[in-house]
Amino acid sequence: MKEVTILGAGYAGLMALKTLQKKAGDFHITLVDQNDYHYEATYLHEVAAGTQPKEKICYPIKDVVNEKVTTFIQDRVEKIDADKKEVTLKNGSPIHYDYLIVSLGFRSETFGIEGAEENALEMVTIDSANKIHEHILASMAKYKQTKDKKYLKLVVCGAGFTGIELVGSLVEARPRYAKLAGVDPKEIEIFCVEAAPTILPMFNDDLTNYCLDHLAKWDVKLMTGKAIKAIKPETVVYQDGKDETMGELEAATIIWTTGVSGSTVIGESGFEERRGRVMVNADLTDPNHNDVYLIGDVSAVMDKESNRPYPTTAQIALKMGTHAAKNVLNQLNGQATQEFTFKSQGSVASIGNTHAFGMVGNTGIKGYPASFVKKMIENKSLMETGGFKEVFAKGRFDLYH
Ligand code: NAD
Repeated sequence: MKEVTILGAGYAGLMALKTLQKKAGDFHITLVDQNDYHYEATYLHEVAAGTQPKEKICYPIKDVVNEKVTTFIQDRVEKIDADKKEVTLKNGSPIHYDYLIVSLGFRSETFGIEGAEENALEMVTIDSANKIHEHILASMAKYKQTKDKKYLKLVVCGAGFTGIELVGSLVEARPRYAKLAGVDPKEIEIFCVEAAPTILPMFNDDLTNYCLDHLAKWDVKLMTGKAIKAIKPETVVYQDGKDETMGELEAATIIWTTGVSGSTVIGESGFEERRGRVMVNADLTDPNHNDVYLIGDVSAVMDKESNRPYPTTAQIALKMGTHAAKNVLNQLNGQATQEFTFKSQGSVASIGNTHAFGMVGNTGIKGYPASFVKKMIENKSLMETGGFKEVFAKGRFDLYH
């Protein structure tokens, strides 16, 4: 019996699994993930800020595994030998496959900035997001003992979507932090340091100003044009774009959200990659192995309109998962694979639970309607990967409050 192996149970991997499971019987599926749960990576900022418990954004992988046709292995993928068709695991025996779908997800990109790995908190997994929350709580307690203002300062590094969404959740949680520290919420200072002179270049002025106005109203200190050059213990070192002088910002909590790259396994396995992403063929296969698909954050697909790879988002990962699975089915049936095509349906960023802004198709939306749309987008992706059970348990229906 042919063996189809999926590495990683994120958005892309689970969509591939669900598509394949519908047709399995003549072939067997193996799914590998280091965790026994799937997590909604688009909600990590809420766990980091503590506005949602980690359980709200996770569900057990076994809930979506059909044991009659799929074997789930909880283990860490160490290496892929695409010539030998073999996957090495940290603890278990190697896996041999006929077709492989690699969906190993993202890691934090530090661009080699000195001290970033050691002295800033990353937000890439449930554990790392939870660690941020615990760190903030501990800092509030330390303020109570020492009265040192650095414990009341929270710095988000990078004002991309991830940074902005995190800032929104920190603002929402600020009154609770203030209570713990025994101070007025105004005394908790939230900074966001960004290298570019402006934020959200993909949006029009109306949407960007919606975001900027809220950040200003909430007293978030947005520091644009400040390229971070190093992170020292409890200190961000940045260069001021205007006059190239160096500045320092002392804060007990420094969170790193300056972008992501694909899993380290990709480079360590010898794929031709850049920042953990492989420029795949039109059908999503590796240029050197037509039985290996790379999807989600480990994959780069050229957008012919912009002449740049599509940004890595949950939206494209879900679509790639379905497409790669359909192409594997084609190959199993001796048919030709199909080209992957993608048209972004837009993107919406939340700032807190009831504010959001973004584009749906060509229409700009903001405020409560945008927040509603954002929650519906997330519920749809939860439905696609997890099904009704997970939507009922974890879906977002707290639309207005
Ligand atoms: P990003 O690359 O989009 O943004 C990172 C930001 O950090 C950029 O603004 C960059 O200029 C800044 N930066 C980089 N190096 C810096 C430095 N040394 N000093 C200061 N600033 C620096 O990364 P992201 O926000 O993690 O997003 C990754 C992908 O996920 C994107 O494609 C994004 O659109 C997507 N995403 C989407 C949503 C959503 O749709 N709601 C939410 C989160 C992320």
